[in-house]
Amino acid sequence: MPSSTHRTQLLVLGAGPGGYGAAFLAADRGLDVVLVNDDAAPGGVCLHRGCIPSKALLHLAHVVETARDAEQWGLTFAEPAVDLEKVRAWKDKTVGNLIGGLSSLCKLRGIDYRQGWATFVDAQTVRVEGPGEGTFAFDNCLIATGSEPVKLPFMPNESHRVLDSTSALALKEIPESLLIVGGGYIGLELGTVYAALGSTVTVVELTDGLLPGCDRDLVRPLQKRVAGLLDSILLNTKVAAVKETRTGLEVSFEGEGAPASQSFDRVLVAVGRRPRGNGFGLENTGIALNERGFIPVNETRQTVLPHLYALGDVAGEPMLAHKATREGKVAVEAILGEATVFDPRAIPAVVFTDPEIAWCGLTETQAKAQGLTVETAKFPWSASGRALTMGRPDGLTKLVFEPETHVVLGVGLAGVGAGELIAEGVLAVEFGATAEDLAMSIHPHPTRSETVAETAEGHFGQSTHYRQPDKH
Ligand code: FAD
Ligand code: NAD
Repeated sequence: MPSSTHRTQLLVLGAGPGGYGAAFLAADRGLDVVLVNDDAAPGGVCLHRGCIPSKALLHLAHVVETARDAEQWGLTFAEPAVDLEKVRAWKDKTVGNLIGGLSSLCKLRGIDYRQGWATFVDAQTVRVEGPGEGTFAFDNCLIATGSEPVKLPFMPNESHRVLDSTSALALKEIPESLLIVGGGYIGLELGTVYAALGSTVTVVELTDGLLPGCDRDLVRPLQKRVAGLLDSILLNTKVAAVKETRTGLEVSFEGEGAPASQSFDRVLVAVGRRPRGNGFGLENTGIALNERGFIPVNETRQTVLPHLYALGDVAGEPMLAHKATREGKVAVEAILGEATVFDPRAIPAVVFTDPEIAWCGLTETQAKAQGLTVETAKFPWSASGRALTMGRPDGLTKLVFEPETHVVLGVGLAGVGAGELIAEGVLAVEFGATAEDLAMSIHPHPTRSETVAETAEGHFGQSTHYRQPDKH
């Protein structure tokens, strides 16, 4: 080892929720840790240009929409005047506070944070180029390099009018008209934000429904509400061509719902993300990517090389922050020699639209695809006292059961606050709770959490506030 090479017990490549969570745990357990990332501070995509800035802006959108709803309840507010500079400042401050917190937690733990681009020299060594440059030899390494937006080859991708989630979150301006390509998580979350801030938003989606893969009954309340917020939703449609003109982007469409070509001020491409497995010398380690571009790992997130682990978006779907965090912890536990495994029954998914959609465990769609026999029970939020007091009866609680045992296999929610409520579903599925367990646990009144207990009661044909149509 050349004298200029630093030796460390653990090198963590990528400081997103997977990487920093793992680095923090490893340092707390006494390992000497180097954490490398190309940003000046930890947080990754999630904190710098993903989960957190988008949720700050979605909060504003929710305030705007709630103020509009209030008119029906006898409270009339003026239409919002958007001070874009202040909005940006508020979002950036929120992100900045969290970045500051993570940076101090890193220092307090004695982690050597290195800003720069990391490249594997070989399977034992990483070279970092940038402000924190250096060469590092490690005992173990965690690869948590995340993912990046998929680009469409026919888009004028260099044009300032073509946005991805990062540039859309920078919120340089509020375009008059915005076309969003992709009706998935990002398209719907950022579509909600821009529409609430004043853009005329069109969403074009390739498949026959928004959020493909999600149970249709959960998507319905969202589809209904966004129909009033967005200018149009084009399903079964794709963008055929895009031409930049002096005043905008001229877009032509193909497919079932294809309208005539239209001009838009901006186009946001949100057609998925791909794992970031290239560009950092992975080939120098001998690890090969799988056919979908992910780094193959086992149940402790170990790669084919026993001292190299991979986790988070680069190691497989779902590409969600909390999944990355748990995987990172499992990888560190494995390095410490503890008995551990990444084998969750329920990874929650939340789409932070209005209403929110959340699910965990087995969905009805998955059960059908896998040929599994399941039973379901549902409770419409129009029968929930709490949802009505909030003027938001547009929601649904749904449970998926194993028929013989009544064990809860999956939970689905649509409605305001569904993202917080799904945590109960995660516990139910992970702990193997039955419908009886949920029905007999006393839920506070009046809350939307009661809908979970009432859905479980409804499975047996009796719930206080709703008669299950198929159980009588
Ligand atoms: P990342 O967070 O992607 O971090 C990887 C880091 O490694 C990055 O900073 C990257 O620049 C750095 N890096 C990569 N290669 C190198 C290298 N060679 N050298 C140095 N540094 C490198 N998930 C949720 O669960 N909830 C949400 O609400 C949510 N909202 C989202 C909103 C948006 C707009 C986007 C884009 C994503 C959102 N996600 C959300 C997904 C979430 O951001 C990811 O699942 C999560 O960030 C993955 O974490 P990670 O640790 O795998 O990697
Ligand atoms: P996505 O996979 O959620 O949605 C992409 C959508 O684009 C799909 O509906 C797909 O059918 C459609 N599509 C694909 N090609 C198309 C084309 N040519 N024309 C029209 N439609 C097309 O992807 P995303 O919205 O880009 O988000 C990427 C990932 O980031 C998500 O899958 C998720 O893992 C993560 N994310 C999570 C959250 C959250 O947890 N709330 C928020 C944002 C992003």
